[in-house]
Amino acid sequence: MSERRKISEYVMQPGTGKAVELSRGQILRVEQIEGGQCVDFNCFNLHDYKEFMHCGRTRTVHGFNPSRGTFMWSAPPRERAMLYILEDTYGRNDVLFPRCSAYVYESAYGFDVHTNCHDIQAEAQREFGLTPDDVHDSFNLFMCTEVTLDGHATMTRQNTEPGDHVDLLALMDVLAVPNVCGADVMRTSNFSLKPIRLTVFEATPADLAVVPNVPVLKSQRTPKDFRNPVIKADRALQRDPAYAPEFPNVPIMVSDLPVALSAEELALLRSVKLDIYGDDAAAALRDILFSWWEERFLGAHAGAPAIEGR
Ligand SMILES: [Zn+2]
Repeated sequence: MSERRKISEYVMQPGTGKAVELSRGQILRVEQIEGGQCVDFNCFNLHDYKEFMHCGRTRTVHGFNPSRGTFMWSAPPRERAMLYILEDTYGRNDVLFPRCSAYVYESAYGFDVHTNCHDIQAEAQREFGLTPDDVHDSFNLFMCTEVTLDGHATMTRQNTEPGDHVDLLALMDVLAVPNVCGADVMRTSNFSLKPIRLTVFEATPADLAVVPNVPVLKSQRTPKDFRNPVIKADRALQRDPAYAPEFPNVPIMVSDLPVALSAEELALLRSVKLDIYGDDAAAALRDILFSWWEERFLGAHAGAPAIEGR
C-alpha cells in the first residue's frame, strides 16, 4: 500500500480554530495531542458556501454518533455526501449537541466573556469572508453523548489519548473548519482545553477504494435548478409583489392504486396484519413497506464499527 503524501500540518491552540481548504481527494486528520479534547467542526462547499454540512440529515442516516464508514451530508436540496469518515480511532463523535455559544456561558454560568465554539468558528470562517450568521450546526468530534430513554441528551467525559484521530476524506472541494471546543466548565473536554493537530494528506488509491459508491439522484438540486438562484444580499425581508406560488406537485391528488398480490404474498400480509388496521389492507401494506424501508435505509448505518473506548 502506498504512503499518504503529507500536504500540510497545523496545530490549533485552545481558543482557536482554522479554516482549511480541502480539495476533493484530500484527507483532513484531526488528532489529539494530549488527549481529552472535543473539536467542533463546520464544512462548506468551497465553490458555493450556501451548500454546507447538515447534522440533521447525517444523524438521520448514520445515527447520533457517526463514526468510521459514514458520510457527512449537505443540507437539502443539495443532500450530497461532502466527506467520508475514513478512520476514527476513538469512535465517539456527536451530531446532537449544538455548538457552545457566548449566551450559554453567560446564561448558565454568569461569564459574560468566555471562549466558545460559535465565536471561534465565526473568527476562523472570517478568513474566507463568512459572517457569524454563517456558522452552522456543529459536528462534534471526540464528544461522548447519549440520549436517555426520556429523550434528553447527555454527555460524559472522554478518554481519548494522544494520537487518537479522525480522518475526513473530502468527496468535493470543501472549506473544513475545525476548532478547539471552548467548553472548559463542562465534561465535553474533561474540564480543560488542549491543542489539536491538523494534518492534510493526499488520499491514496487504497483510501479512495474503500468509499462506498453513492448514486447521484435527480432530486439533488443545485442553484441552476432554483427558481431564485440569487443569494439575498440585504438583511430585511420584504414581500415580492410579483410572487405567485408554484409549490411542487400541487394540487396533491389522492387516488387508489391496485396492487396485485400473489397468494403467497397475501398469506404473508394476513399473517402480519394487526387488528389496528381493521379491514384496511392498504394501511397494513403501507406499514409493512415502511418497515422494510426503515430497515433498509435507516437501520443500515453504513457499516459503522462497534463503538470502542467508552
Ligand atoms: Zn464548544
